[in-house]
Amino acid sequence: MKKYDYLIVGSGLYGAIFAHEAKKRDKKCLIIDKRSHIGGNIYCENIEGINVHKYGAHIFHTSNKKIWDYVNSLVEFNRYTNSPVANYRGNLYNLPFNMNTFYQLWKVKTPAEAKAIIDQQVADAGIVNPQNLEEQALSLVGTDIYNTLIKEYTEKQWGRKATELPSFIIKRLPIRFTFDNNYFNDQYQGIPIGGYTKLIEVLLEDIEVKTGVNYFDNRNEWNELADQVIYTGMIDEYYDYKHGVLEYRSLKFEHTVLETPNYQGNAVVNYIDSEIPYTRIIEHKHFEFGEQKNTVITKEYPLEWTKKDEPYYPVNDTKNDLLFKKYKDMARLEEDVIFGGRLADYKYYDMHHVVGLALKKVEELFPDYRNQTMQIP
Ligand code: FAD
Ligand code: UDP
Repeated sequence: MKKYDYLIVGSGLYGAIFAHEAKKRDKKCLIIDKRSHIGGNIYCENIEGINVHKYGAHIFHTSNKKIWDYVNSLVEFNRYTNSPVANYRGNLYNLPFNMNTFYQLWKVKTPAEAKAIIDQQVADAGIVNPQNLEEQALSLVGTDIYNTLIKEYTEKQWGRKATELPSFIIKRLPIRFTFDNNYFNDQYQGIPIGGYTKLIEVLLEDIEVKTGVNYFDNRNEWNELADQVIYTGMIDEYYDYKHGVLEYRSLKFEHTVLETPNYQGNAVVNYIDSEIPYTRIIEHKHFEFGEQKNTVITKEYPLEWTKKDEPYYPVNDTKNDLLFKKYKDMARLEEDVIFGGRLADYKYYDMHHVVGLALKKVEELFPDYRNQTMQIP
């Protein structure tokens, strides 16, 4: 008999939820992570009394009540609503695209006036069946919004032309004809009071965790320790890039403490212009309505990913999705390894997707568990 039921590679949200639920079902888990801390990309560090989102702004949002109730059963969430502001050539615009934005662009005051302009621009673009991000954006919001708020940001963020990117990316952003700056359409939204690390700590309570450990430095020895592996790293790395290397977009985060109580008046300001090398400045205290003496800001610079960088965003274009399918076919044949999370599934998941998928996996593996508190549809 092996020492653990599960070896979990990665202490991000997927690995932590799996470990927590498996432990509830009397399974013994060991989590390893190559980073020096737990939490993966949702990790927060307290600096100047402020919970700093070390890997970029994270706002939890979902329309699934069971997922919302689940995370709230672990830690309390606040009422934060994400309302980023965009800076294009020195002018500020509200996001997502809504009546405030339309007023800022065209001085229109009614939904009918705004709709007439957008409908005309969409008709002029004449796109029937959008094939890429640019065509999708033009057929949803028209030329002015595309040129002012989308094109340069998108090409900077992805390092690719908008005509070479998949259209689903832009469908993440709502367009609405009300004066409502809420970035998400979901019913529930907030940030864990005290930051995301607290959420991960609650999930990992009484679970053995080793950080600063790369699975691939010693994979056979790690495998010997447990009956099954839950793997949340990059799927192509798991197979030693046998079919080729999947592409990712990486980021560089530049954190700065400033001796001012309020630097930009908002948690997130997007910088659209191509000449500005970063895409966003985050001012973390505003996520939790902080009133500390100083502030911490983070500039987010997009980078092309190489094997020495952190893989933040999968590039889900046709070429990469086809390559991913080859790895997925191999993964399906594994009996003792379960793949999950953003990197192993090579999908642009938000946190609520990851929570739902981890819980679903637990239910698949332990269908007879009597004290199940929730069912994910
Ligand atoms: P990760 O958090 O990536 O965890 C994987 C872990 O595995 C990492 O800790 C890694 O170090 C470890 N690992 C990998 N390989 C190995 C190895 N070989 N050995 C040991 N350990 C290994 N979602 C939202 O819902 N709202 C947002 O506002 C939001 N903002 C985001 C902003 C940015 C900049 C990014 C990049 C993502 C954002 N997300 C957001 C998405 C969110 O971060 C993910 O959905 C979620 O964190 C994924 O969790 P995970 O466990 O799948 O992956
Ligand atoms: N986007 C844009 N302008 C903006 C914000 C976003 O064009 O001001 C586009 C860009 O292509 C981006 C996508 O919309 O990659 C999704 O944005 P989101 O804010 O959801 O990205 P994330 O927070 O995941 O980086």
